Amino acid sequence: MKPSHIEHIGIAVTDLNEAISFYEKVLGLTCYNIEEVPDQKVRTAFFMVGQTKIELLESTDPEGPIGKFIAKRGEGLHHIAFSVEKIEEQLIHAAEQGITLIDCKPRKGAEDLDIAFLHPKSTSGVLIELCENKIHLPS
Ligand code: ZN
Repeated sequence: MKPSHIEHIGIAVTDLNEAISFYEKVLGLTCYNIEEVPDQKVRTAFFMVGQTKIELLESTDPEGPIGKFIAKRGEGLHHIAFSVEKIEEQLIHAAEQGITLIDCKPRKGAEDLDIAFLHPKSTSGVLIELCENKIHLPS
């Protein structure tokens, strides 16, 4: 896949405002975007660190993926997102290599990225997100 960089690190939190306060006041980062993603039943807050983002995820529905994650495992590291090109092809290649996909086709994530998840049972226990920013590509 040869990802160019870690696009973001997703962290599940129970209280978005409290978590934002930590990243701003203690780490000295600036929250530049807060966005609700109804599809994933989350409210997200973003910080930039170099070319990598921190994505805080607060559940808006106990039955959503983050709500279930926190109920089972508590707050903490949720996923790592790699920036790739040609995400559809990467998913096909991953499936050919026997990787279990959560998303067989990319869907829209926060910040209008095309995203897809690989199942942690195929990745040594880490939920891995692939994402592609098609906005900056020539159409
Ligand atoms: Zn993410």
